[in-house]
Amino acid sequence: MSLPAFRVARPKTVEEAVRVLSEWGPEAMVIAGGTDVVPNLQMRLFSPKLLLDVKSISALRGITIAGGGALRIGALTTLTEIIESPLVRMNYAVLVSAASTVAGPLQRNMGTLGGNLCLETRCLWYNQSYFWRKSLGGCLKKDGPVCHVAPGGKRCWAVWSGDTAPALITLDAEIEIAGPRGMRRLPLAQFYKNDGMDCIALGRDELVTAAIIPARTAGRRGIYLKLRIRDSIDYPLAGVAVALDVDKAGICRDARVALTAVNPAPLLVKEAGESLNGQKYSPELVERVAQAAIRTGKPLTTSASTPVYRREMLRVFTRRALEQTWKNGRS
Ligand code: SF4
Repeated sequence: MSLPAFRVARPKTVEEAVRVLSEWGPEAMVIAGGTDVVPNLQMRLFSPKLLLDVKSISALRGITIAGGGALRIGALTTLTEIIESPLVRMNYAVLVSAASTVAGPLQRNMGTLGGNLCLETRCLWYNQSYFWRKSLGGCLKKDGPVCHVAPGGKRCWAVWSGDTAPALITLDAEIEIAGPRGMRRLPLAQFYKNDGMDCIALGRDELVTAAIIPARTAGRRGIYLKLRIRDSIDYPLAGVAVALDVDKAGICRDARVALTAVNPAPLLVKEAGESLNGQKYSPELVERVAQAAIRTGKPLTTSASTPVYRREMLRVFTRRALEQTWKNGRS
């Protein structure tokens, strides 16, 4: 599949990039590693007039300690750089675990954190070639009048399928965004709108510049478990991230569980903290949180596995992830 025709701009600074985005509006599209954008262009899911290649902006690179001991990961940092970073490995096990499962080694060498946080939503009826989609008359999200997943509704249920966002959400991370009015930060969990049609809270004239993890979640035990067809490369069909603060007596002092690939956004399992804080490990407690995960995840027929199986795997992964991080001290 060939690429559509477009112009390319290569800004050297964040300010220049934002200026170009403001000038071109919806005609522009940002590209970094290209591992998600290029296939989407080839399938004609987008036909921008301008590709804004941000790889020359050095300010977007690197992993550094910021104010208050927080860890700042620039948007252009590759997934391999995150996995290999001593700073990340020492303190943020769940992020290393999640980044290690993204696609295959080639994509992790090319793919960036910013790109992984801004992935397009996925659906069996959407991530197809132009001819495939055209033969079915398109769908609500692209060129059609109906959603094939929920034909009676007006909502798109395409799933958000990134791996690093649920891990970062369990670490209370924030996202840093540059725009024409300067920089802003918001909790990463609020960046996702739970809307398959319009999934992230990023203006057309804005650029993601970094993720920031607070010092208070450093050192937490954590793991990310992921269901996929091929273990060597695929997007998640369901994913569970767990981060726990467990004291020397084995009592959980703080806990987060987040899900991905089963809703149009990565979502926290809200009951997890309430159920686990102040408690010692028990199979019954873990099962209660696993049941809460099932109530939070709402898999539909958007992916290459049945909703029933994906839902059951949420339960299995939540239980297994909590057991491994807590009982066995895995981190
Ligand atoms: Fe299209 Fe419906 Fe799939 Fe959304 S959920 S991409 S509208 S088929």
